[in-house]
Amino acid sequence: MACPYFKPSRRLDSAGWDPPPRLPLGDAWAGTCTAGCTREPPESIQREICNSGYARGRCDHFPENEPSDAVRFSLSAGGRLIYILEKDHAPIEHEEIDILTDAREPLASLARAFWESHQKTPASAAAIAAAP
Ligand code: SF4
Repeated sequence: MACPYFKPSRRLDSAGWDPPPRLPLGDAWAGTCTAGCTREPPESIQREICNSGYARGRCDHFPENEPSDAVRFSLSAGGRLIYILEKDHAPIEHEEIDILTDAREPLASLARAFWESHQKTPASAAAIAAAP
């Protein structure tokens, strides 16, 4: 589950991870923190917290009054992309999101990162190849 304040913009390589962990956005992403700023956190923070979520109590920039701890994404069998906001590991909000039209940032950028990561998985490639 990624941090709901993280705005991913480009992929990170898998340096430092052998093997790379399974990440909530699929790949490791670099980007900016939108919690009252637009800074790019140190890469180690991005890898360990921004990409992985549950930043409350682990990151000094995470707002105390933020209702959610993390956001995760799920693709339905029909190809619909769903976001789920979580608090204390329980869902508090979920809804379909359209990566082409949704203007909510950084949620839309997080959704696009998840979508782009998913497009290059072997299962996804097989589904695309089998499509009529
Ligand atoms: S620096 Fe902290 S608050 Fe900002 S995106 Fe990363 S984990 Fe979230």
